[in-house]
Amino acid sequence: YVAKKNHSGFVVYSQKLDQHSPHRLTLMGELRQAIDRDELVLHYQPKINVKTAMVSGVEALVRWNHGVHGLMPPDDFIPLAERTGLIKPLTLWVLNHALQQCAVWQEQGLKLDISVNVSANGLMDLDLPDTVAGLLASHEVAPERLVLEITESAIMLDKDRAMQVLTSLAGMGIRLSIDDFGTGYSSLAYLSKMPVKEIKIDKSFVMDMEKNSSNAMIVHATIDLGHNLGLEVIGEGVESKEIMAKLKGLGCDVVQGFHFTKPLAEAQFSEWLSKSIN
Ligand code: C2E
Ligand code: CA
Ligand code: CA
Ligand code: CA
Repeated sequence: YVAKKNHSGFVVYSQKLDQHSPHRLTLMGELRQAIDRDELVLHYQPKINVKTAMVSGVEALVRWNHGVHGLMPPDDFIPLAERTGLIKPLTLWVLNHALQQCAVWQEQGLKLDISVNVSANGLMDLDLPDTVAGLLASHEVAPERLVLEITESAIMLDKDRAMQVLTSLAGMGIRLSIDDFGTGYSSLAYLSKMPVKEIKIDKSFVMDMEKNSSNAMIVHATIDLGHNLGLEVIGEGVESKEIMAKLKGLGCDVVQGFHFTKPLAEAQFSEWLSKSIN
């Protein structure tokens, strides 16, 4: 923890600022072990096809089952992993377990696409396409089943390198999705050249679109833009049936959000799925 004086002269403590604070070092070491010891867990949130009202796939979202802190949300350790090189083994862990689960569903006759988040430094990894190819082969999952969600800012970190990685992933038949769309600073001209298949409108625009007219306009425009570029458009952060109805009216292709369910551990997800429309 570091002590800093803010503008009014008060001392405030921040655990975020100091890269070398004992807290961070401990957590980093623990995360390394957690990956090795399978103390991470994936939760799954369904994606619903608006036209068919069927569950078309799931997004895998990682949590850390920490001995002391309990179930930790990804925002508490992904940024740390990003800055320390742990993101590579973490991404590998997530991909491996997500594809393993996808294979299990496949055996049960469930055709579910699986979406996995790949953050900035994960995307800069030139080995990623080979790694993914190896995992798909060993789990016997078709590349078309896998969606990799990337952010605009990750692409803009190093455009050439991102393009190289994304081109080989797309060439293998893997679907690429731009996550948190609308929150980055990327150029649309550049994005239209990327081999992506879908965009996910950031939940900050969707969540309050029924009462925030400028957000509603952004959502409307983004859906039209996506469709004009030949992309599938996903709305995330759908928390009510009113928002669901609005997105349906605007022609949004796929929806995801607490209105259907929050992300669930595998057993709870199976239970939810058996009670749902599929
Ligand atoms: P994201 O990829 O944008 O994931 C969506 C987040 O929104 C998830 O939070 C999900 O639980 C939440 N969410 C879904 N529906 C709703 C809704 O209707 N309302 C609200 N308010 N929230 C909703 P979560 O699971 O805490 O994940 C946070 C972020 O952590 C993710 O944002 C993603 O950027 C990152 N993350 C999660 N898993 C992984 C992973 O395996 N690898 C990497 N690199 N990042 C991950
Ligand atoms: Ca995502
Ligand atoms: Ca998102
Ligand atoms: Ca995000």
